[in-house]
Amino acid sequence: MIAGRRFTMRPFSVYEADVLVIGGGVTATRAAVAAHDQGAKVVLVDKGILGKSGGGPVAFSVTCAFMQAPDSAEVLFRDMIASGQGLNNRRLVKAFVEDVFEGRVLELEKFGIVFARERDGQLSRRQMGGHSQPRDVASFHAASMVNVMVSEVMRREIKVFSETAITKLLTYQGRIVGAIGLKRKTGEMIVFRAKSTVLTAGGASQAFGPGSVCGYSTTLLEITGDSYAMAYRVGAELVDMEFIQYILAFAYPELYKGILAGEPAAHNAKLYNSLGERFMERYDPERMERSTKDILAAAIVQEVKAGRGTPHGGAWMDFSAASDDSLHIFPYPFEEAGIDPRKDRVEVMPAAHYHMGGVKISEKCESNVPGLYASAEAAGGLHGANRLAGCSTADSNVFGSRSGKYAAIDALRTERVGIDWQQTLEEEERLRRLLETGKKVSGIKPVDLKRKIQTVLWNDAGPLRDRASLTMAIKKIKELREEYGQLRLRDTSAQYNNELMEAVDIANMLDFGEMMAQAALLREETRGGHYREDFPKKDDEKWLKNIVIKKQDNEMCVSTMPVVM
Ligand SMILES: Cc1cc2nc3c(=O)[nH]c(=O)nc-3n(C[C@H](O)[C@H](O)[C@H](O)COP(=O)(O)OP(=O)(O)OC[C@H]3O[C@@H](n4cnc5c(N)ncnc54)[C@H](O)[C@@H]3O)c2cc1C
Repeated sequence: MIAGRRFTMRPFSVYEADVLVIGGGVTATRAAVAAHDQGAKVVLVDKGILGKSGGGPVAFSVTCAFMQAPDSAEVLFRDMIASGQGLNNRRLVKAFVEDVFEGRVLELEKFGIVFARERDGQLSRRQMGGHSQPRDVASFHAASMVNVMVSEVMRREIKVFSETAITKLLTYQGRIVGAIGLKRKTGEMIVFRAKSTVLTAGGASQAFGPGSVCGYSTTLLEITGDSYAMAYRVGAELVDMEFIQYILAFAYPELYKGILAGEPAAHNAKLYNSLGERFMERYDPERMERSTKDILAAAIVQEVKAGRGTPHGGAWMDFSAASDDSLHIFPYPFEEAGIDPRKDRVEVMPAAHYHMGGVKISEKCESNVPGLYASAEAAGGLHGANRLAGCSTADSNVFGSRSGKYAAIDALRTERVGIDWQQTLEEEERLRRLLETGKKVSGIKPVDLKRKIQTVLWNDAGPLRDRASLTMAIKKIKELREEYGQLRLRDTSAQYNNELMEAVDIANMLDFGEMMAQAALLREETRGGHYREDFPKKDDEKWLKNIVIKKQDNEMCVSTMPVVM
């Protein structure tokens, strides 16, 4: 008998709604509000604590201001295609720029966001890396984009389940009819029965590691590829899974290690290698440090590989020309680390930050599986091979709203949906088995298995890849799947069992890792956030197309499709 509450089918609580929103970030809250405003009954379920999870609380910059010619929706459209290196789904980009231009992001001011403004009242616009115009706006106010949206969720009395991880999407006669959630506090399983489900559970950057022990990631711990793994298991098509965005994070001083250093463009900063060369001259002589994130990250990795790296394996970043305002965004004053930013250089290196791929969606955020919608980092196609700065938070606002709206319209014309209780029993059994591992005398701890995955993904499928390393990554992932069977949790109680939650995350990380490595192996070229050492050039003739992954007959099927124009 397992100590604590045993999972059984009967005590499942069942919560019914028209629309289930999975996630708690800017995207999720915008989706929930949009669905509610269409007249739908909405439930939002967040693995973390609503308002504190995901990228929302730390993301402050957003592409949204087109106040002055020569900027326009067409110019942003062109910038995004250039940054995405031609792979962006044009229909998504068109919908995006139109909605941004019409004010979908600036609408946040109505909800209480305070965007920085100049003395004359105009929005204070910054030109971020890869943008041809200054159109990014920041909010340095304590009430972040997600905070103001959480208030809107509360104002509408939308039902929220915080610290509840969705572990499985439910299908019934080919339609997604909700999902199963696991409450961290009680270990209770909840069936969310919903006519439409919006997946906004973010990206997968934690699959590359929390820093120092394996690779580097800038995201919070919840971001473990759940969106991709859960969608994959119910037959959704995923696109562009090979493209990972690395951003500059501090490698030294220690106090700052792994923390986002941001865009050199935002700080007017310069990059140097150990020989004192401004090496961006070699990689993007025109834009230099104002280049896009993918080019900056690949440049640093190549400098290190060529033996021109700094002592902690990165590049020097020189903030001496930064404005005081731009330095205020860092969590600790430089002085605390014994650094004078006007004189001393700091070391930076690439850290996994964002995933361009995800569920293949239409402009209405529909996936190929009826009843399943996805948006922002959970979805793929908008950003192509590389995302532009500030366009993620804008994506969350635009496609968050779109996904909620269209999911609600669909739900409101759908009859009550059925539940296949066998699926809930199978999920109960899976979780029960994980708990029972607490009775074993030996086995691998979840945290140790997690570190192994992170190390494999960073070393073999991370910033530098080639055929041998990717083949090795896929082989090791298969071995780690075997090792998953050797997991041993310390505690058999379902209540507050962090290791149980971690074990669920690990299964998602494995599925994400394999999809990412398979797509990266197939793409024999270098483009955006995919750097192949054995194919270091872009190959438009062969590879101006997207890679699609889908589960078919229990196999991971990888194919290509023409770019959507
Ligand atoms: C440090 C940092 C700074 C950034 N700064 C900027 C910026 O200035 N501008 C910009 O454009 N972008 C920025 N980004 C990127 C941006 O924050 C993210 O891409 C964006 O937050 C993605 O939004 P999302 O809602 O799709 O996912 P997230 O914000 O990551 O939210 C995912 C949500 O899903 C929940 N979740 C995960 N798994 C489950 C599950 N199984 N069940 C239920 N809930 C689940 C999580 O708890 C979380 O609430 C930054 C990112 C980081 C990490």
